[in-house]
Amino acid sequence: MKLTGNCFCGAVELEISGAPEAMGYCHCRSCRSWSGGPVNAFSLWKPEAVRITSGAENLATFQKSPLSQRQFCAKCGGHLMTNHPTFGLIDVFAATIPELDFKPAVHVNYAETVLPIRDGLPKLKDFPSELGGSGEMVTE
Ligand SMILES: [Zn+2]
Ligand SMILES: [Zn+2]
Repeated sequence: MKLTGNCFCGAVELEISGAPEAMGYCHCRSCRSWSGGPVNAFSLWKPEAVRITSGAENLATFQKSPLSQRQFCAKCGGHLMTNHPTFGLIDVFAATIPELDFKPAVHVNYAETVLPIRDGLPKLKDFPSELGGSGEMVTE
């Protein structure tokens, strides 16, 4: 499976291949502040699955914490993805790849939520234990 996506203005184009490692929603304050929305719909991919096909010179990165290298288009400011080097995964925002068959399976950083979502999916207080989090669940 191959998917294409681009930034808000279209200067940066990317191609994703294969299947995501995980999909879900992040409720953390950083994602909210960065996205300007109450939650971030994420899809996580191995770095080799993500390829910039055009406009790589416009791809800019802002890194506030060691966990996240947030990548955006320097022309339009549109957000594309966040590289998580310590996880070995890239979060290509679901909104970046509209053709993605988005099937969320988990909520992370739910302890920080400002938009409770009662959808019956598992809700992690922070991150899964295999990614260095507590792995603790929050009840809806
Ligand atoms: Zn752009
Ligand atoms: Zn987040």
